Amino acid sequence: HDSLPTTPLSLATSDALFTRAKNHIPGGVNSPVRAFRAVGGHPVFMQSAKGAWLTDVDGNRYLDFINSWGPMILGHAPEIVLEAVRGAIGNSLSFGAPTQREVEMAELIKQMVPSIEKVRLVNSGTEATMSAIRVARGYTGRNKIIKFEGCYHGHGDSFLIAAGSGALTLGAPDSPGVTQGVAQDTLTVPYNDLPAVERTIAANDGQVAALILEPVVGNMGLVAPAEGYLQGLRDLCTQHGIVLIFDEVMTGFRLARGGAQELYGITPDMTTLGKIIGGGMPVGAYGGRQDIMDNVAPAGKVYQAGTLSGNPIATAAGIAQLTYLQQHPELYDQLNRTTTRIADGTRQICRELGLNYTVNQVGSMFSVFFTDQPVTDLESAKTSNTEAFGRYFQAMLHRGIYLAPAQYEALFVSTAMTDDLVALYLTACRESMREAH
Ligand code: PLP
Repeated sequence: HDSLPTTPLSLATSDALFTRAKNHIPGGVNSPVRAFRAVGGHPVFMQSAKGAWLTDVDGNRYLDFINSWGPMILGHAPEIVLEAVRGAIGNSLSFGAPTQREVEMAELIKQMVPSIEKVRLVNSGTEATMSAIRVARGYTGRNKIIKFEGCYHGHGDSFLIAAGSGALTLGAPDSPGVTQGVAQDTLTVPYNDLPAVERTIAANDGQVAALILEPVVGNMGLVAPAEGYLQGLRDLCTQHGIVLIFDEVMTGFRLARGGAQELYGITPDMTTLGKIIGGGMPVGAYGGRQDIMDNVAPAGKVYQAGTLSGNPIATAAGIAQLTYLQQHPELYDQLNRTTTRIADGTRQICRELGLNYTVNQVGSMFSVFFTDQPVTDLESAKTSNTEAFGRYFQAMLHRGIYLAPAQYEALFVSTAMTDDLVALYLTACRESMREAH
């Protein structure tokens, strides 16, 4: 029977590993969001996972609300994906030549995201967004891009300007090492402010190649687009010949089978994907209108390549997970219902404790902002009490609930999260909120 711990956890093996890790790896982690810099303490080293549960190297179990930052929508180690990977491994790990699975994966992505007429597989979300803006620049012959404050599109130079997620948490939204030459071509605008976009386009008339955004933002915490906002951006891009890129690395196949673009009924020119399409393996993709994508080498002259792109094991995992999602549309209703229960329950607990905190939710993504302001952009997100959040995070961790170790992140719910598990979460939430204040 599933239950949560009642006494503080022993994390001795994790602590020892972290001490070793810091000697060899910058900050002891291979991606900054994994460090507990914003919440104190040391990161937990994981050993295994199944369904909604993680097990760390000390044998502690946690109910997981990160799900590898999004990919594990079916929970951890779903048999259907593991089986596909086992089958693929027998035929060798990589060929550097085309395979049937790459064709099947492209067909599947196109069926589920109809705005994509041609698609190229890469190995991460970062590669997808970097490549997409290169293609948009090649296609339009223009240099500048518009991005939004607090959106995160991976660690490509052009995007580490007013970036969200780990860059924001570490207080380095503009990274050293990004040259001024690159930075000057990235124009940044507050999210959910259509007139600001209009002004920026007008001030850079005929120079903007692409406008890229998270149609639902996960990287300043979860922030939804205001009514009419996405349509407004679509209209402006059409009017000015700007390539509209939806970065659906988080939202793709999560908010609906066809991502945020299906949920809101807006058709972008290009889409970037990652996370869920690899089922936990390293995969990204970018695609869109055929006349744009046919500029990609070798069809066109915009160069982009990858030794391991379309990797047989990664595509096997991706095809298995995407096919399952395609064949089970009812899962999205289930995910929405479960996450609504979590969000409503959290709001209710906050109210009981006299905390008027903002809980944002879209589909199976949500964030609890430690502020009583509505959170609609980076400025309002930053009104959050990050110290109280840190105390809450630690209180939850020691009750066996694994949250993102930073305020400015979205949480992800998987289909493995049952009503019984939601009840465990809510009990821990009530106690932890009380403890943190
Ligand atoms: N775009 C968005 C919206 C993301 O959330 C992320 C990662 O979290 C990326 C791009 C970068 O993807 P990756 O970490 O696979 O490079």
